Order: sequence, then C-alpha cells, then structure tokens
Amino acid sequence: MDENCLFCKIINKEIPSFIINETKTFITVLDINPANLGHCLIIPKEHVPFSSMITKEVYNEISKEIKRLSVLFLRVLKSRGSSMFIANGGVAGQRVPHCVIHVIPRYLEDGLNLNIQANEISEEEIKEVYAKFITPQKE
Ligand SMILES: [Zn+2]
Repeated sequence: MDENCLFCKIINKEIPSFIINETKTFITVLDINPANLGHCLIIPKEHVPFSSMITKEVYNEISKEIKRLSVLFLRVLKSRGSSMFIANGGVAGQRVPHCVIHVIPRYLEDGLNLNIQANEISEEEIKEVYAKFITPQKE
C-alpha cells in the first residue's frame, strides 16, 4: 500500500469507482477514461510497479479474470473481440507505478488504434537478442 497511489486509493475505496469484481488479490473496475465502452482495469491489490513482481498465484487469478471479462464483453456488450495490455515502466507509457492490466472490448470499426508499428531492427540484431534469450541466464 502506497498512500499516494491512485490505484491503492481505489482498492481502499478512498476514491469511488465502478467495481465489477473483487477478490482477496485483485479488484476489477471500469476505467473512468475509457479507450472504449467497457474498458476494464484489473488492479492487483499488492502495490507493485511491474507485472514481473506479481506472484504466480495472483497471475493465475488475473488470467482467469481476463478470460471472464473477454467472455462478458462478447455476451453482454456484443463486442467482436478484445485487446489487453500492461505498461511496465514510464518508457512503456505507465503513469502510476502500480501495475494494472487493461482489458478493452473491441467493436467493428471502433477507431481505437493499438496497432504496433514495426521498428527498424536488423536481422543481425534479432539473432543477437535470440542468442541472449536462449543462453541460460545467471541468477
Ligand atoms: Zn498502489
């Protein structure tokens, strides 16, 4: 818990929100600045900045929630699909250092642009990073 954190305040209900699910480990709310109608935020209750700091058990619960929301979007909102993303760090666009998972319903021609543009990266660089990934890392 960080007393200055917006998401911790939502979890502690110091800031009112549209809560659509709550468990011991996370809370799901409607984003009040939605990218699309029905945009949800899954907020782990532990104040951790990066998704890599979430425990395996909580990750498993969040995975089930993502699946539940995706089905809810299709059934209740008649969406045609969904997008999900996590911004880890300011360089990724994270504004509050508390990990949140965005789950966004998608509609035909909704105009939401989450298309990832290809960067200019050479095949040699790809091979270098591949070698780093498959080489056992020292802990
Ligand atoms: Zn927090």
